[in-house]
Amino acid sequence: MVIGRFAPSPTGPLHFGSLVAAVASYCDAKSQGGQWLLRIEDVDTTRRVEGASEDIIRTLQRYGFEWDGDIVYQSQRSEYYEQALTRLRNLGLAYPCTCSRKEIADSSTQQGIEGVIYPGTCQHHPIKPNTPIAWRLKTPAKRISFEDRIVGWQQHNIGQDIGDFVIKRADSLFSYQLAVVVDDAMQGITHVVRGADLLQSTTRQIYLQQCLGYAPLLYAHIPLVLNNQGQKLSKQTLATALPSDNVKDTLINALHFLPFLPQPFPTFSSLSDLWRWAIDHWQMSNHAKTIT
Ligand code: GLU
Ligand code: ZN
Repeated sequence: MVIGRFAPSPTGPLHFGSLVAAVASYCDAKSQGGQWLLRIEDVDTTRRVEGASEDIIRTLQRYGFEWDGDIVYQSQRSEYYEQALTRLRNLGLAYPCTCSRKEIADSSTQQGIEGVIYPGTCQHHPIKPNTPIAWRLKTPAKRISFEDRIVGWQQHNIGQDIGDFVIKRADSLFSYQLAVVVDDAMQGITHVVRGADLLQSTTRQIYLQQCLGYAPLLYAHIPLVLNNQGQKLSKQTLATALPSDNVKDTLINALHFLPFLPQPFPTFSSLSDLWRWAIDHWQMSNHAKTIT
């Protein structure tokens, strides 16, 4: 059984880039007779924008997406993230950290793919008293690799390229990496299709899955939609919200952006006609597999 998902963060309205990701995961799951779940990734409540979830859901409905089951909200799932953290602590894989950003920058000599590598200070020294605690996952010098269905072979040395990363923040919010891994496993997700901006996060997620004993998933990272300045469409780059009229043409543009449908497209008489054709003709190779 194929189970895919769309997992928007409610930091603003959906834009064309998010539509492309939604379309790709939807067609991928539905073309394989699978389910497609909707998860609102509001784990970072400090970034949540009032009304954004409702707006995203309304927009998806207007564009004709039909998700299976109930919508899952990360903000309601802290108990599961806490259980995962407890499990990692019991396995001796997580440790508390009271270092400030500045202390880490000053003490680290190693550069990873996302800036300085945490030097493991709090693993070897007592933590500071009366200081908010973050939790970090221990990362050994271990190669984590997978074959992305679109981008191909990917690998990182989890300890040397990433380092001990935060799974629960000092403000007591769980990290995106932990939440997404727990949710994908608990929702039985088999196929992750998402934007290429998350490609770099995937080895962290695979490592967490291995630590927690979860099943591996298939990954496909689709090309990012860029604006005229070559920036990724996002709230930060002021991407415009999806139009509420012209839905069919906007969807056709999203389908054209992806190289998984035969050209030229036929003429569609309705939205359901368009979806039926796209799902029937969708071609995205499924052969790549997570390799550990
Ligand atoms: N919530 C993430 C985002 O909106 C997507 C997470 C994922 O697909 O794994 O960028
Ligand atoms: Zn520390």
